[in-house]
Amino acid sequence: MNSANFINLAYLVTSILFIVGLKRMGSPATARQGNQMGAVGMLIAVVATLFDRQIVSYPVLIAGMVVGAVLGYVSAKRVQMTAMPQMVAIFNGTGGGAAALVAASEYLHGTGFGTHMMPYGAGFTTLLTALIGGISFSGSVIAFAKLQELMTGRPITYPGQQFVNGLVALAMVGGLVWLTMTPQPVWVLVAFIGIAMVLGVGVVLPIGGADMPVIIAVLNSLTGMAAATSGFVLSNNALIIAGALVGASGTLLTILMSKAMNRSLGNVLFGSFGAATVIAGGAAQEVKGSVKEFSVDDAMTVLENAQSVIIVPGYGLAVARAQHACRELADLLQDRGAEVRYAIHPVAGRMPGHMNVLLAEADVPYDQLMDLEDINADFAKTDVVLVLGANDVVNPAAKTNPASPIYGMPVLNVEHARNVIVIKRSMNAGFAGIENELFYMENTMMVFGDAKKMLEQFVRELKGSTAVH
Ligand code: NDP
Repeated sequence: MNSANFINLAYLVTSILFIVGLKRMGSPATARQGNQMGAVGMLIAVVATLFDRQIVSYPVLIAGMVVGAVLGYVSAKRVQMTAMPQMVAIFNGTGGGAAALVAASEYLHGTGFGTHMMPYGAGFTTLLTALIGGISFSGSVIAFAKLQELMTGRPITYPGQQFVNGLVALAMVGGLVWLTMTPQPVWVLVAFIGIAMVLGVGVVLPIGGADMPVIIAVLNSLTGMAAATSGFVLSNNALIIAGALVGASGTLLTILMSKAMNRSLGNVLFGSFGAATVIAGGAAQEVKGSVKEFSVDDAMTVLENAQSVIIVPGYGLAVARAQHACRELADLLQDRGAEVRYAIHPVAGRMPGHMNVLLAEADVPYDQLMDLEDINADFAKTDVVLVLGANDVVNPAAKTNPASPIYGMPVLNVEHARNVIVIKRSMNAGFAGIENELFYMENTMMVFGDAKKMLEQFVRELKGSTAVH
């Protein structure tokens, strides 16, 4: 077999591993395996590429790989679960940046540094890659800076912003046509990529708060597209397929997240990136009634007699790192004969699948994890719901108050249960910055404190009372 055939065969294996791996990531039970399949696929692709005859300098290439691998390994090992969205953003940005650099180098070689034309098709694809990669790179860097709080996470807006963005986009399209039709020197190419980067910054600046993960999904899909077009530029099948997979999954994720937050994709993409995030700083609405604070002891009397318990994890559970204590409590309740299940809201936490990943860390059995649509009808026949650091995803205002910024977002019907025990530190609002009438309801018991400390106290008390029994 000649080396080109060998490389293409390896790329075929890579592509199959990517596709099957992606499929397996669809369920928490197989997600780890899916991830490993993707990693093995990537390793095969990288090794096969090392056999490519066009490689100019192995030392430079291997040095780059070592630096990249060390940086990737260390940051992935050290990242906190709550900081995952910004890590995804910055890793995504490097992908976009790499695609832009590859395209720039191909353009310069293809045009003999601006002295002759590239065939129209090849020139156009190369420049398109540089453009999409540039947008994705700068947009992702701004998204990272916002989420990492290196700059304000609030939307940054000014009058006529959309118009200015429109002009920049127009200049970019003009540049794309111009550079395709006539070869240009290096500085024009650099300016062209610079304009694309300005657009990336311009598009992400007015976005903040709840829309950030949605824009990260959009940027992800852009990087996928840049990788796919760079695959055409380099005649590399693995890149074309991998890029198409990333592009398609990013787009699907964008659509799913918009739906879960009750926003149309058009609204997220072109409408009010900034507007929805005003919620984050919005004034809390008046809620009538009084809050009833209970001690762990009081709440325990209700919990230990429950036959059916549904646990609703939220962002606060991740902040408190209380997943192990939560699992321990669930095990104790089950030992006492109670049925325990978890209600997983699609946007609980701060990234898609956040709660699944968190609970998987504590080895919570997958068959106890129930999606919103599968469990929502069961709250009415449940003895106790334990709301652990969740707020917006259990806010009844989403169903009852058309004036609420979250009106229309599907929420968990926890208030239908006989008793609701809410564990959080204070009356502070959640991500959306709004009051939650659930906390004032007759059947709600508020237990104030850090989720981990409170759950550990529940566990101690339950163990004590079991020992007495
Ligand atoms: P929320 O952000 O609504 O609420 C979290 C609650 O946790 C807070 O009210 C806070 O109250 C409490 N909390 C924080 N730290 C602790 C702690 N150590 N112990 C106990 N409680 C704690 O979280 P939800 O998961 O309910 O909702 C997610 C929100 O994030 C939604 O608005 C969603 O739209 C948004 N979002 C989700 C994304 C996703 O992909 N999952 C992406 C982007 C946004 P207190 O300070 O009083 O303790």
